[in-house]
Amino acid sequence: MSSIDTPLKVSIVAPCYNEEEVIEEFARRAMAAGRAAAADSFELVLVDDGSRDTTWAKIEALSRENPQIVGVRLMRNHGHELASTAGIASSCGARILLIDADLQDPPELLSEMMAMMDRGADVVYGQRGIRKGESWMKLTTSALFYRLLRWLASVDIPSDTGDFRLMTRRVAELLLSMPERDRFLRGMISWIGGRQVPIVYERDERHAGTTKYSYSKLLRLALDAITGFSARPLRIASWAGVVTAFIAMALLAYTFYSFEAGWAVTGWSSTMVAITVFSAVQLITLGILGEYVGRLVQQSKGRPLFMVDRMVRGGEDVSPIDSYD
Ligand code: UDP
Ligand code: MG
Repeated sequence: MSSIDTPLKVSIVAPCYNEEEVIEEFARRAMAAGRAAAADSFELVLVDDGSRDTTWAKIEALSRENPQIVGVRLMRNHGHELASTAGIASSCGARILLIDADLQDPPELLSEMMAMMDRGADVVYGQRGIRKGESWMKLTTSALFYRLLRWLASVDIPSDTGDFRLMTRRVAELLLSMPERDRFLRGMISWIGGRQVPIVYERDERHAGTTKYSYSKLLRLALDAITGFSARPLRIASWAGVVTAFIAMALLAYTFYSFEAGWAVTGWSSTMVAITVFSAVQLITLGILGEYVGRLVQQSKGRPLFMVDRMVRGGEDVSPIDSYD
């Protein structure tokens, strides 16, 4: 997709959703980090994920001032993971740094990450040492989630990592060749394997603005992660079925026995308990099945992962050709 022939050393890719308050400061720091790490051989790809504020106007303005800034506007909000995918697909560097636009991840780390990659790493992933400005609730749910995921998933996904990472073009191409819609990028990148090394850093507070991740979006990401990386919940559902079947048989035996012994028809409550417990198990099992089947349906449609509306490079329009315009 790029119009540049000699490969750039690195592409800095940042998804932005309603980030008008931070985008300029982010671009300033990311440009400085790029210059420090790769002289002029870099580009900054800012993906506007269907923002409703002035983010796109600011990206366009930034791109007019800096030939190294590429702006990609998606047709609508596709979510963090797909916006990142769109950014990677639109980039052309030999290495790709994936970073959030809110300055929680310090772009200045790029030089050190590049050096680690020079020593042979395929992926250098940021691991959060300290996390400032995150609620107690978010830290606890996140810790529990990673524990659950590690137990369920067959691939080892390191805990306390976000999507902040430097990867080689080769890893990026492998990532782009994976067609799944429900993308849990950090899991997919772990799955690819190769030499993946952590870099520990302090995660700052958001520079400005508020989180663009609601709890419902987080829950969806968590479910994508689990269903994308493990069939174990289905197996757990089957086991729950087997266990309840045994309990049901035991209850049946007990009923016959009490009938024989002459003290039957004791109660209503035990019947009710049995019915509610078994219905709960059945509903949960159906729910788990639904999570997988729903994703299967979406995937089978084979729709494009994201739709690019406009693209600018250094202020010039390089939008993908659209026969409907
Ligand atoms: N983001 C996005 N699309 C969305 C939600 C978020 O592109 O639908 C971007 C957002 O602009 C930011 C990054 O993803 O650059 C991480 O989001 P955020 O900082 O709000 O998440 P948090 O750090 O609070 O988990
Ligand atoms: Mg953030």
